[in-house]
Amino acid sequence: MIIVLNKNVSVQQKANIKEFLEKKNFQIREIAGEEETIFGAVGISRVDLREVELLSGVAKVIPISRPYKLASRELKKEDTIVQVSKIKIGGNRIAVIAGPCAVESREQIFAIAKSVSEAGAVILRGGAFKPRTSPYAFQGMGEEGLKIMKEAGDTYGLAITSEVVSSVYVDMMAKYIDIFQIGARNMQNFELLKEVGRAGKPVILKRGLAATIEEWLMAAEYLMAHGTDDVILCERGIRTFEPSTRNTLDLSAIPVVKKLSHLPVIVDPSHATGLREKVIPMALAAVAAGADGLMIEVHNNPDIALSDGPQSLYPEQFEKLMRDIQAMAPVVGKSIEKIPYYQTASIESLPVKDTGGSQQLRQKAAFQGVHGAYSEIALERFFGDRLAAKPCKQFADVFSAVMSGEALCGILPVENSLAGTINDNFDLLLRHPDISVIGEQQIRINHNLIGVEGTKPEELTKVFSHPQGLAQCAEYLDKFPNIERTPFFDTAGAVAYVAEQKNPKFAAIAGKKTAEFYGLSILKEGVETNPRNYTRFYIITREEQAAVVSGGKTPNRGVLVFSTPDTPGALFTCLKIMADYGLNMKKLESRPIHGSPWEYMFFVETELADMAVFTEACGKLKESSETFRILGTFYSDR
Ligand code: PEP
Ligand code: MN
Repeated sequence: MIIVLNKNVSVQQKANIKEFLEKKNFQIREIAGEEETIFGAVGISRVDLREVELLSGVAKVIPISRPYKLASRELKKEDTIVQVSKIKIGGNRIAVIAGPCAVESREQIFAIAKSVSEAGAVILRGGAFKPRTSPYAFQGMGEEGLKIMKEAGDTYGLAITSEVVSSVYVDMMAKYIDIFQIGARNMQNFELLKEVGRAGKPVILKRGLAATIEEWLMAAEYLMAHGTDDVILCERGIRTFEPSTRNTLDLSAIPVVKKLSHLPVIVDPSHATGLREKVIPMALAAVAAGADGLMIEVHNNPDIALSDGPQSLYPEQFEKLMRDIQAMAPVVGKSIEKIPYYQTASIESLPVKDTGGSQQLRQKAAFQGVHGAYSEIALERFFGDRLAAKPCKQFADVFSAVMSGEALCGILPVENSLAGTINDNFDLLLRHPDISVIGEQQIRINHNLIGVEGTKPEELTKVFSHPQGLAQCAEYLDKFPNIERTPFFDTAGAVAYVAEQKNPKFAAIAGKKTAEFYGLSILKEGVETNPRNYTRFYIITREEQAAVVSGGKTPNRGVLVFSTPDTPGALFTCLKIMADYGLNMKKLESRPIHGSPWEYMFFVETELADMAVFTEACGKLKESSETFRILGTFYSDR
C-alpha cells in the first residue's frame, strides 16, 4: 500500500507509523517526492487500510493494485535513476554497456575495454561464469576473469558488470563488480534473486526466455524486496516460433514496462538477434523506442571468440553505432551518458564556498534566463548535477558571475542550426580577455505551446516567446491569425510571465520542462517548423582555472580570434598557415571591431589533432596577425 503523509508530518509521527506497520511485518520504504512524501509498505500480512489512515500524520492510504509493489509506477511516479560510480542510468540518458560475451584473457579484455571506452561506452560487460547450453562449451574464467576485468575497467574508467549464476558467488563477485547481471536463464531462480538482492548493489535483470512482462517485474520485485532499489531491466529477446533470429526482440516491452514501472529499461540486441548485422538496426530501434541504455557484445576478434562470436560487433562497427546513436538521441530528447568529462576530483579540489553555517554550497554554473531555459537544460546535459545552475538576467551577467567567482563556469548559446551565430556572445568573449572556452554542448530545440490547462489554441489572443522562438514556430502560428505574436526577452521567462498572469487567452512558446516548472500545461507539443533545430553552447570559465576545471579528455578543438593588417591577402596568409599545419576549420566568422569602423576580427573554430602542432601554428598566426588570442581549447564529440 502507499501511505501518503501529511505535508507537515513530524519525525515522531513518521516513527510511530513505521513502528505500527513493522509490527505487522510490513517492509517500509520512504520516498520523498517533490510534491509529497510517501511510505511504501509491502508485506504478506493484511491490515485494514482504515486503521492506517487513522494514524496521525497520514493523509491517505492507497492500495497498490499490481502484484509487484516496489517495482510499480503506482508506488513511485518518478523514473528511478541508478547511479553506478560516476555514471547514471535512467532519465534522459542512454547508457551503453559493451564488451565481450566472455572474458577470455587479459589481452582480450584490455583491448576491448580500450576500444569500447574510446567509442563512448560507460560500462564494461563480460561473463566470467558462462551459462552455456552445452556442458562441453567454454564455461568462463571464474574469479580470475573478474579480477582482470576490474583492472581493465579501472584503467579505462569503466564500471563493470558480469553475470552471477549461483548464490555461492555473490560475496566473491561483489568485490570486483559494480553491477550484478542476472541472466535470462536465471530470471526466476528466486533463491539467487534473494541473495543478490541482499547484496544491495545495482542489478541488471535480463528478461527470461519465455517470461511475460509481469513475471519479469515480479522477479524485479524479489530483488527489491530483499534489499536493492537499483534494478535495471534488460529486454534481450524472447523465444517465439520464428527461427530466423536467435530470439524475437520485444521492443514493445519498453513502453509497456515504462508505464508499469519506474525502473530503467535497457535492451540487449546481441542476444536478441544472435547475428552481427541485425544488432545495429535493432540497437537504433531500441533507442527510438525509448530504451535507457543498450548492452552490446563487442569483441576485438569475433572470428575466434570463445562464445557468441557471430553476434559480436567488430570495434569499428561499435564505434559507428555509437556515432549513429549520438545523432539519433536528441530526436527522442536524450543524450548518451558519458564518463564525466569533468573529473569530479578536479571540481572538488576547487574552493567550495561556505554559507556560514555547516551547509556547504555546490559550486555554481551561470546561465542566461530563468529556470527551465534551454541554456539550463544544456548545462544539466554537460555537468549533470555536479554544479548548481545560477540564473542570470543578461549574457553579460553570466560573464560577471564567472569573473567575480560567484559561478565556477558559465554557459552561452553561440550558434543555432537555423538562425545562425549569436553574435552578442562572440562580442562578449572578445571583451573578456580572462575568460576561456572549455567545452561545448549541443541540444535539440523542441518548442511547445504552453498555457493554462484546458485552453484550446484557437481561444488564444497572445503568444509570448523570444523572437527566435516565435520565428521558429511561424508555420504553426500562421494557422491562428488572431493570435498576436509578442516578443519576450527569453522563452522560459515568457512561460513564467504567462503563469503569473493566469490568463487563459495567453500562451508561451518554450521547452517542455518550463511547463512543469511554472505549473502550466502543454497545449501542443512540437510546434517548431523545422524539427532539425539545434543550438550549440560554449562552456566558459576564468582562464587561470581552465586547466583544473576542464580536466578530462584531450581537447580536439581550438577557438581563435584575430585581426589582420589592412593589406591584400592578409586573411589569406592566416588561412594558409592553418592549411599548412593541417588545421581543419569548422567555423569562420567575422565581427566588426568596436571603435574601429569597417575593421573586422575573425573567429575561427578548428579541429586540433596534436597540441604541439596547434601551438606552433598559433605562433605563426600571431606573427601574421595584428591581434591574436586563443579563446580556448576543448573536447567536442561532433
Ligand atoms: C549474456 O549476457 O552473456 C547472456 C548470457 O545473456 P542472456 O542471459 O540474456 O542469454
Ligand atoms: Mn553472450
